Parts: sequence; C-alpha cells; structure tokens
Amino acid sequence: TKWVYIFGDKKTEGDASMKELLGGKGANLAEMSRLGLPVPPGFTITTQVCTHYYEDGQQYPKELKEQVHSAIAAVEALTGRKFNSTTKPLLLSVRSGARVSMPGMMDTVLNLGLNARTVEALAQEANDERFAYDSYRRFIQMYSDVVLGVDHDFFEEILEDFKDEHDYALDTDLSGSDWKEIVAAYKDKVKEELGRPFPEDCEEQLWGAVGAVFKSWMIPRARTYRTLHEIPEGWGTAVNVQAMVFGNTGEDSATGVAFTRNPSTGENALYGEFLINAQGEDVVAGIRTPQDITEKARIEAYSEKPSLEATMPEVFAEFKAVCDTLENHYRDMQDLEFTVEHGKLWMLQTRTGKRTLKAALKTAVDMAESGMITREEAVERIAPSSLDQLLHPTIDPNSERDELSVGLPASPGAACGAIVFNSDDAETEKANGRPVILVRTETSPEDIHGMHAAEGILTTRGGMTSHAAVVARGMGKPCVAGVGAIRVDVRNELMSVGGRNFGKGDVITIDGGNGQVLAGRVQMQEPELSGDFKKLMEWADSIRRMDVRANAETPTDVKVALSFGAEGIGLCRTEHMFFEGERILAVREMILSDTAAERKTALAKLLPFQRQDFIDIFELMVDRPVTIRLLDPPLHEFLPKTEEDIAEVARQMDVDPEELRERAEELEECNPMLGNRGCRLLISNPEIAEMQARAIFEAALEISKRHGRRVAPEIMVPLVSLKSELDIVRASIDQVAEIVAKELGEKPAYSVGTMIELPRAALLSEDIAASAEFFSFGTNDLTQTTFGISRDDAASFLGKYQERKLLEKDPFVSLDIEGVGELVKISAKNGRKANADIKLGICGEHGGDPASIEFCEVIGLNYVSCSPFRVPVARLAAAQAVL
Ligand code: PEP
Ligand code: MG
Repeated sequence: TKWVYIFGDKKTEGDASMKELLGGKGANLAEMSRLGLPVPPGFTITTQVCTHYYEDGQQYPKELKEQVHSAIAAVEALTGRKFNSTTKPLLLSVRSGARVSMPGMMDTVLNLGLNARTVEALAQEANDERFAYDSYRRFIQMYSDVVLGVDHDFFEEILEDFKDEHDYALDTDLSGSDWKEIVAAYKDKVKEELGRPFPEDCEEQLWGAVGAVFKSWMIPRARTYRTLHEIPEGWGTAVNVQAMVFGNTGEDSATGVAFTRNPSTGENALYGEFLINAQGEDVVAGIRTPQDITEKARIEAYSEKPSLEATMPEVFAEFKAVCDTLENHYRDMQDLEFTVEHGKLWMLQTRTGKRTLKAALKTAVDMAESGMITREEAVERIAPSSLDQLLHPTIDPNSERDELSVGLPASPGAACGAIVFNSDDAETEKANGRPVILVRTETSPEDIHGMHAAEGILTTRGGMTSHAAVVARGMGKPCVAGVGAIRVDVRNELMSVGGRNFGKGDVITIDGGNGQVLAGRVQMQEPELSGDFKKLMEWADSIRRMDVRANAETPTDVKVALSFGAEGIGLCRTEHMFFEGERILAVREMILSDTAAERKTALAKLLPFQRQDFIDIFELMVDRPVTIRLLDPPLHEFLPKTEEDIAEVARQMDVDPEELRERAEELEECNPMLGNRGCRLLISNPEIAEMQARAIFEAALEISKRHGRRVAPEIMVPLVSLKSELDIVRASIDQVAEIVAKELGEKPAYSVGTMIELPRAALLSEDIAASAEFFSFGTNDLTQTTFGISRDDAASFLGKYQERKLLEKDPFVSLDIEGVGELVKISAKNGRKANADIKLGICGEHGGDPASIEFCEVIGLNYVSCSPFRVPVARLAAAQAVL
C-alpha cells in the first residue's frame, strides 16, 4: 500500500480531488504544486495510516518507515538540504490535516530537526545566530507543548522574565546570544518537568510529532468537535511534513494570512495581515499587531504601519497573482497562508474561506455575474437555514453576552425587552411604548394578544411545535421555548435561574437563533433584504419547480409573506381568527348554546367578522391560491380557565359563572390533541362549517366582483381519517355554495380538499382522493400520531433522545423521512392513482425545513407552505432540491 504522497515541484503525486486520502491541507498543497505555485516540497502521510493506527493497536503499517524515509530523501533532493545533517540541515514542519479543518487537534510543529549540532550549522550557514536560535526556541516550545505535554505557559514565563530583566519590549529585540540563553533555560525546564532531556535525535523528533498528530485525533476536544459537526471518526487525519521556509530571517522576511475577498463583507478585494521577521504562529497569537496586506486596507484601518504592498511591492505583486490564480482555479474565495523568506514568496496553505452570510451572498452573486461560476452554483452555495440570520434582527456579534440559560431555538431572531408574566401586561406595556418579553411556562391560544404585543416569547416548557413555537414562528417573533432551567412563579411575578432572580420590568434578551437567554440589553443588528439577497432569490425562483406558499391568517402576516415572495397561502388557520376582539364573545356564546337554533344565532354574529377576515386576505392575494382550513381545535380552548377569567367572561356575557364553568368542564378532554377537533367537531357541530363556508363564498364573490378576477378559495377539512368524514363536511360546503349562488345570483368558484395528518388517511388516500381536489400534508399532527408522541409534551424527553442519538433530529422540525415520510409518500402515490390531477402540498412546520423540502421535491409535491419568515429559506431550499 502507498501510505505517503510527495508534493512540491514536478514530483507531486496528489491533487485537490484526494481530500479523503490526503486531508484538505495535503490535497490543496499538492494541487498548488501542480499549478506551479511556489510550495515548499514535502509529503503527506495519508488518513489511511490514521485509520490503520487505531485499528491495529496504535501501530503503524510496516512499510510506513521506509516510505517516509524515501519521501525525506526526495525532499532533500528538491531542496538540496539534508535532514539531521550538520551541513545545510533540512528542517521540517509537521501539521495535521483532516478532510475538514478541525480545531482542537494538534495543529503544527515548526522547525523540527533542530538540535545542539544542527542549530549551529544553521547559524553558520545563514550567518545569523539570532535567526537560528529564535527558530530553535520556537521548536522546543511548540514540540514540548503539543508532543511532550509540557505547558506552553512555562516557556512564556521564562521569556517574559528574561525580557523584563533585560528591558526588552518585543521578541525581535532579543539577540542571538539572548535566544541561546533562553534555549538553555527551556531545555532545563523540559528536563525538570519530564525527568528526561528534550530529544536531540531528529528521527525521534519526527516520529514523536507524527504520533502526536495521530493521537490528537482521539483527544476529547477533537471528539467533541466531531460530534457537534457530525464528522465521522473513521475519516482520520493526515499528517503533512514539509520543508521549512523561514519568515524570521530578518527584515526581508515575513509571514501572513489572507483571504482573496473580504470574509465579513464579501468585498472583492484582497484582505489579510502579515508580520515582518516572524513565523506563522505569531500572526494568530497576537504577540505583535500585524500589518495590512494592501494599501487600501491600511488606509481604511487608519494604520500607520506600512502595508505589504508598500514594503515589498514585488512580493505583493506575485502574491496578488497567486491569489487570482487560486481563486480562479478553485472558483471560490480562498483563505491562504504564506511566508516570505529573504524576499521569496512561499505558499503554505489554501482552502475555501469561511465567511459571514453577507459575504457569502455577495461573493456568490459577484462570482456568478463575472462568469466565474454559474447561477445554479451561486444558488447552491448558500445554506438556506443561514438566511434566518438575515430576516430578523440579530445580536451584534461583537457584543458581550451574559448568558442565563439555553433553551430550544424555537423561532429565530433576537429580541430584548422588559419581562412580563401575562399577556394583558404585555399589551398594556406595549401600549405605553415599552418593549416586552412575554415569559410563560407555556402559552395557550389565550395568549395570542400578548404574543402579538411582545417583542419575543420565552417559555419554560414545550417543544419546537408547542403552541408558543408555532405561533411565534408564524408571527415572525423570536421565541426560545422549553428552557427547563428557568423557574417561573407567575403569582409572585418572579423568574429565577441559576440563583438569580428577575422580576416584572427587568430587561432580558432572547436569541431565538440559538436558544440563548441573556440578562440585560444587548446590541442588535437590523435585517437587509435588498441587493445580493434579492438577486440570489430571483435566481433560486427561476430554478425551483415547487411553489412556495405561506401559512398565514392575518393581513399583517399575509403582507409579510408576500414581501418575502410567497406565491399563495397554503394554510389559513381560521381558529386564530376566533380570538380577536369581540369575536371571542360570540364564539363563547356559540359554545354555551344548548340548541342548534341558539348556536346558529351566535354563529350569525360571527359571520360578518369571518367574511371580513377573508375579504381582507383575498384583497391582498386576489387570484393567488388561498387554502382556508375550517375550524380545527377543540372548543374548550376558547373557554376561560381561571376563576377570575370565568367571572369576567360571565359578567360580559351576562350568564351565571357556574354555568360557564360547568360547560368548560364538560368540554374538557383528557387528550384534546386526539379529541373532538377538526372534522369531528365539524360533524358534531355542522353549523360551524356552514357559517365558515358562507363567509368564504361571500368574501370570494365580493373580491371577484371588485377586481373582475376569479377568486377560487381552496377549502380544507382538517383531521380526516375516514372518507365519509370528508364526504359529510364536503356535502354541507356544497350545499352552502348552492344557497349562496341562489342568493347572490352567482356561483362561487372553489375547491375542497383535506389535510392528510393521520396515518389512516395517509394509508387510505386512494379512497379519500376520490372526494378531494387537493391534499395538504399536516406533518405536525402526522408526526405526532405516527410516533405517538404528543406535540406539546415532546420537549421533556426528545432532547435526551437526540443526545443519545436515538433520533438524529427533532422529528417535529425535520421530517422523519423513513417513517412519517413513508406515509406521505404512500399517500401521494395513492392519491394520484385515484385522481391524477390532485394538487399536493405540505403545510406542517416541515414545509420550511430544507431537508424536508428536498424530500417533498423528490416525491413530486406541487408546493410547500411554511411560516412567512421561512418563505425565503423555502424558496432557496426548493431550488437546491432541484439541482
Ligand atoms: C399539521 O398538523 O401539520 C398542521 C399544519 O396543522 P396544525 O399545526 O394546525 O395542527
Ligand atoms: Mg394539524
């Protein structure tokens, strides 16, 4: 087996496509060599050696030693130097390099191959004792730290003491004989700490460093990082051994790091820093303040230190050309490391540069417009979920965070405000111009007005599809849910966490993007939706096949959805309309009615409200599709619960509080999620569906007339499991249509369909499709009923399931493709069997999740529907799903 690959010059054996075998760094070093760029020669020990090492009781493959020796010989030939020699000694750098860069692992040992003899040879050859002993002390310190486990701080202390004693300010102030003394002190320290001397044998040094790289693959920090970033342990790391070039050989030498474009703004301008007379680690370590690479950056930073462009114009010109070559070659922004040795440029690393979302959008758009990449590639380069950052105010990354606890990131964006513990207070404070955060154990439909008034919502119970989470996402309000560590004492208006107490009026900040709860006010940044974002989204729109709709019911939400590019409404939850203002009185009157006649009277009061709601929505949407779902939740949700609330409602309605409470108790269910809701409620109370159908038809005809366009609402029946349920509700909708047609002299245009949100309906879709013009997959309830996991109670254990890897992702956030997805697939297939033209969409929370959207594309749904604020995410994800 070939375990070692040489690079540098013509002999290069690897290339950029070999990242699995050579790691990212090794593959790119090989690629740069192939491009004829100045790369110090070296070799890569493959990731397979790492795998072999761990599979074989921490032993190397037999042939490895020999292959390394011949690779060293090749490097010696290319450099004209010799390892472990007292004439022209070859020094090496040893670096780790996994497929993806992984902080936490052993990073680098520089200047390997120095000992008491070779350091003298180096000093003589360079005629520079300072340079030789500066290199040697760096080697001892780095090697001791990462290979021998002698803490870095010991050495820093020795150096600092020495500088104090001699009144030196900078490391560059030290002379050769100073460094010689330091080296001796360092060696003594190592002996003192380890009980054995620092290794003089170069061969021993090399294998020590190689071993340290492989060992670092399994240290806890690296393992944690892998778990967090889903990097398989089996990948292993490669080791890159490379001839040293020296940035610390005087004023005509330097070392630096650069990005081919600005990684925070995306501006197409070289951006980076360097230090004269230094080695790589000094730039990152912040020992001296680095200098800017370009004049432009220097001026912008008001720096007095000269730029590379000004001090070393020839090197700069060459470097700039290398940057252009690399960016054009990789067709992406690069992050580079370089060294200048006596005026000669050497490239030490290139990789795709990490960047902010803003920079990612700008570089993708700029590169597509300049023809470097295609528009499809530009669209593929943006992670849809990252768009969330852009659509909401976010916390200024430079601000201090006083973290109290972390909960579920239930709805993105950050908000700060004064704590309130109930929705009425939220409304009052808001009316007084005070921004508030609504803090509850959990929210219920009664909190809608408080949630509207609040800047953000914090709950201590409930999961990603709890009431608070769903409603907050729908409203585009930041929400952190299920923060178990916070105790809320509503009666005493107190929130406590980690021994700290917060009362009403105390200011907190929540970050719905990562679930953080912070004390006090934190600096915010506003979203920006024009320019590059807009352009990229238009490209995505021209690529995607599926339509993107929004789940929205208020004119405010509908407007937001339209501004984010929604093409229709996929789910208008009518129950949300029942809570507003005076309507709730009529709703309660209806619920308290004893007879159908009384119920009809109460519903007649609701009709004008509902009609107006739909008029408002149709007015905004005109001929775009709108799916209206008939009433879904159980009736008890609309009744007051606490004694005080009951008393107040009784007063308002002029009924006996006792009667009200009894009725509320009567309607109370053990398991309301599986109780008398959806079509079941519409069957037991047919007058509700009739009223809603009438409101929809009258509104549609009104808007048709107003705009001279056909308005054809899609009426959706929830929670169907039997075809006969759909047939019954459908019949009453059709009947109302006939009546309205007679009354108004015009037949309303409409279609009727159903939610598929119960396993039985999914399995019997062929049957049900005969009565439905469309299906909308309600994957919230479908997930709940397929797993048998309550949407509201999932938080208490799902987190542990994820920790223990029983579930990779929260199935209420990202569709369980194997199980729930299988039901959706069966349903789509069978639904189409019965009705080839059936329109299929998804309106559960998964409609805004990129992985779930990809699945929807694969099974050929017509549209996805999600919260207004996720519409851009869905547009982008739907485009990527096609590519
Ligand atoms: C669903 O169940 O997926 C759905 C969209 O309906 P709701 O969340 O209102 O139950
Ligand atoms: Mg549902």
